Amino acid sequence: MKRLVVLGGGESGVGTALLAKAKGFEVFVSDKGRINEKYKQVLVNNEIEWEDERHTESKILNADIVMKSPGIPGNVSLVSKLIAANIPVVSEIEFASKYTDAVIVGITGSNGKTTTATLTHHILKEVLNVGLAGNIGDSFAKQVLEHGYENYVLEISSFQLDDIVDFKPHIAVITNISPDHLDRYDYKFENYIASKFRIAMNQTKDDYLIYDADDEVLTGWLKEHPVQSTLLPFSLDKTFENGAYLKNENMIVSITNNEIIMPTKNLALEGKHNIKNAMAASTVSHLLKIRKQTIRESLENFQAVEHRLEQVLKINKVQYINDSKATNVNATYYALESMDAPTIWIVGGVDKGNNYEELYAFVNEKVKAIICLGVDNEKLLDAFGGMVDVISETQSMSEAVKMAYKLAESGDNVLLSPACASFDLFENYEDRGRQFKEAVRNL
Ligand code: ADP
Repeated sequence: MKRLVVLGGGESGVGTALLAKAKGFEVFVSDKGRINEKYKQVLVNNEIEWEDERHTESKILNADIVMKSPGIPGNVSLVSKLIAANIPVVSEIEFASKYTDAVIVGITGSNGKTTTATLTHHILKEVLNVGLAGNIGDSFAKQVLEHGYENYVLEISSFQLDDIVDFKPHIAVITNISPDHLDRYDYKFENYIASKFRIAMNQTKDDYLIYDADDEVLTGWLKEHPVQSTLLPFSLDKTFENGAYLKNENMIVSITNNEIIMPTKNLALEGKHNIKNAMAASTVSHLLKIRKQTIRESLENFQAVEHRLEQVLKINKVQYINDSKATNVNATYYALESMDAPTIWIVGGVDKGNNYEELYAFVNEKVKAIICLGVDNEKLLDAFGGMVDVISETQSMSEAVKMAYKLAESGDNVLLSPACASFDLFENYEDRGRQFKEAVRNL
């Protein structure tokens, strides 16, 4: 019997443990932190041996294979010991993909993964037997075990890609690349880019890579590091024989002279970045032979994903918008760009070395007041102090929303788009978004 050790007892770890047990492995789960009660119960009920708040090396270094959760950096000493002992260390998607013949659509990128993956799944599920997994909902491994879908749309982080060997999506998407998580990549942007491109490393010319051709990081890298995959670019200002582009306010997706045409004003999701996400999702759907009418209808009736430019409520003709998932400057850039009315902007949190300069033009043009919501707002006050009439700060979400309410006039927007991580005042970005919505509803 082969021994699989799972490092990290979260969603992907427990999912992998269940799949491995069903496939006849002897399984041991080890987590240096505390394992959530819910997952402990699953492990106990399935008679899977586990430990938490420690790693017992004697029970780990005897593994035949190790699944490392994406949250664990590759340079911790335990992982170095495993590698030195020639024990393969893989990610969940690598392990689970061995147990399915499904068609895999893999979506990665710095921003827009969840939106694009959810939108793609929304279209495909009209016709195909398809699961949505990766960083969303139930783990891929668990779905392979319990559902055995014929197709999967996977949202894939760079951390998951770092530990693949043979994993190959038939269709890969890279939404865009901007600096993020550099602490895990020796502070070298090129390492992070290389990690994202691993999504295409096992592809052949019979597989597809869909990518943002307006993103110079992506196009520059591709020029220097060609891939085998058949390329299908999308762009807001270039046109292609094969790919997705704009023409007279229409989005066109063209593959071997077969075109889908759709007016961009009919897209359910607003903002230029969402035209790009729709282009990516439509290209995938076109490749998988979904009827044009089905694609158009699905793009029209898609409901925004929670915490991503989510329209919360209109009060006194003021629109409140929750974009709590904007945890970096690039995401907030697109949020501000999509504002079509004077905006009161709630921003702040844990700064990840942000450079706010790229936001200046939009702030000058659209933002009438700024409310800084973080433990340390110094950098924001410095960056934007001279730019707007009103800039204030608070450490409480309900206070921030009340301040915004007082400042807003009929026709304005109130936008929560923090450009920062949430951990100073909130549990995570979901908690921050929920607190925002609750405060709005309590106005
Ligand atoms: P991810 O899963 O990659 O974090 P999400 O779909 O959750 O991406 O969106 C994260 C943030 O980025 C949101 O604020 C959203 O409005 C913004 N966003 C969505 N799509 C794009 C895109 N194509 N380019 C830039 N920002 C985007």
